[in-house]
Amino acid sequence: MLRLTDTMTKSVREVVPGTPGLLTVYACGPTVYRYAHVGNLRTFLLTDLIRRTAERRGLRVKLVQNITDVGHLQDDSAIDSSGEDKLLAQARLEDKSPFVIARFYEDAFHRDLATLNVRPADAYPRASEWIDAMVALISRLIDAGNAYVGDDGSVYFAAESYDGYGRLSGNRLEDLRAGHGATGESAATGKRFHADWALWKKAGENREMTWDSPWGFGFPGWHVECSAMSLDLLGDRFDLHTGGIDLRFPHHEDERAQSNCAVGHEVVGHWTHGEHLLFEGRKMAKSTGNVVLVSDVVERGHDPLALRLAFLSSRYRQQANLSWDAIAGAARTLDRWRAAVAAWAESPSAPLAQAYADELLGAFEDDLDTPRALQVLRRLEKDAAVPDGAKFETFAWGDALLGLDLVRQVGQPVVATELPPGAQELLDERATARAGKDFAASDRLRDELAGLGVAVKDTPGGQEWSLT
Ligand code: AMP
Ligand code: ZN
Repeated sequence: MLRLTDTMTKSVREVVPGTPGLLTVYACGPTVYRYAHVGNLRTFLLTDLIRRTAERRGLRVKLVQNITDVGHLQDDSAIDSSGEDKLLAQARLEDKSPFVIARFYEDAFHRDLATLNVRPADAYPRASEWIDAMVALISRLIDAGNAYVGDDGSVYFAAESYDGYGRLSGNRLEDLRAGHGATGESAATGKRFHADWALWKKAGENREMTWDSPWGFGFPGWHVECSAMSLDLLGDRFDLHTGGIDLRFPHHEDERAQSNCAVGHEVVGHWTHGEHLLFEGRKMAKSTGNVVLVSDVVERGHDPLALRLAFLSSRYRQQANLSWDAIAGAARTLDRWRAAVAAWAESPSAPLAQAYADELLGAFEDDLDTPRALQVLRRLEKDAAVPDGAKFETFAWGDALLGLDLVRQVGQPVVATELPPGAQELLDERATARAGKDFAASDRLRDELAGLGVAVKDTPGGQEWSLT
C-alpha cells in the first residue's frame, strides 16, 4: 500500500483510507492572481502522483482542490497575514475587476494542469463562493469559545484555546512571541493575544470583495477557507492533506486548529508536504524574480511533459534544483522512450514484464520514490532478456503512473483532418521561424493560425496541429 511522509509524525507512514476503497484528499490550490510557476506545479503534481499510485491499486480517489480568489494577503508567512489582498493588488495593477483577474488565472491554472497531464480534481471550490460556509464555521468557533470578536470588529481565533496548537509545524505558542505573528501587529489590531489570527476581517473603506456577515461587512481570512471547504466537501475526517512545505506554517497549523476545534477531533489523517523547487540554485518565487512558466518551456521548443519527467527525477520530499539543461535532458529521454515504445509496438505482443511492473509500482508506493521508478524503466529498456512486446506492455502500463504520454506517435497531428486553405503555408513559415529562433514571428503565426481555427503545439518532433 501507499506510504508517504507524514509531517505530523515526521515519519513515513501508510496512508489508510477511512472508508475501505476510497481515498479522500484535500490539496491546497492556487491563489489565482498570476500564472502558476513551475514550482507551484511541482507541488500540484505531487497530488496527481499520489492519486495515480492509489488508483493503480484499485482505490477510488476523491480529490478536492480549492481556488483562492479572496482573502490571501501579501504577508502570508505571518501567523495573521497582513497587507493588501494579492488579488486586489493585481486587479489594480491590471486595471481590471478582481473577479476578471481571478477567472483568467483560474483558467490558466486548469490549462497548465492539463498540459502537464495532471488529472482534474473532483471539485475546485472557489473561496468567494463558500463565504456562507466560512461564516457558519466562524460562528461555531465563537460559540465553542475558540474565537472572539476583537475590539476592531474583526473575528479572531484564540490560539491558546487549542492545546494541540503547534504539533504540525513544531512552532510552540511561547516561541512565536518574538517571531511570527508578533511584530508590528498587535498594536494595530484588536486581537487579545499576539499569536491569534483573523478568521473574519472587518472591511476597510472602499474595499472590494466584501460580504455581509453577523460581524458586519468584511472578508474571510485565508486559513479559514480551507477548513470550511474541506469539512464541507470531504467531511469531518479525511485521509490526506497535501500542499507545499511553506504552507505547513502558519496556513496548515491554523487550519488544523480551526477544523479540530470545530468538530472536536483530529480531522486529517495524514499531512504530506512537497519540498520547494529551486531554479538554478534559488527558490522559485515571484519575489526572487526567477519564475519559469509552462509557456516558457514550450517557447523554448520543449515538450512540456519534459518538465513532468524532470520533476520525477527527484523525490517530492527533497528540494529539486531545476535548470534548462535538466529540462533539455528530460526532453531527450522522453523522445527516446517514445520512439522505443513506438518501435516495440510493432513486435509480436507479449505479456507484461511482471517483475518490472511490480518494482515500478513498489517504488511509487514507497513514499513516491520516483527516481528509483525511472531507474527501473531504464533497466527494462536495456534488458535483452525481455521481449520487445513485453517492454511495450510494461511501459504502457507504467505510463498510468508516470503520465508522460509514452504511447503516442512522434510528430503526428493529434487529429488528422484537413487543414483550412492557407494554414499549411503558415505552418511552414512558423517552422522556419522557430528553427531560426524567431519567437516573435512564431507567436504571431500561432495567432494567425488560431484565427483560422488551427491550434499549434510544439513537441520534440516538431509542431503538431489540431482543429479547434
Ligand atoms: P500559491 O498560489 O502561492 O498559493 O501557491 C500554490 C502552491 O505552490 C502552494 O502549495 C505552495 O506551497 C506551492 N509553492 C510555492 N512556491 C513553490 C516552489 N518554489 N516550489 C514548490 N512549490 C511551491
Ligand atoms: Zn489551504
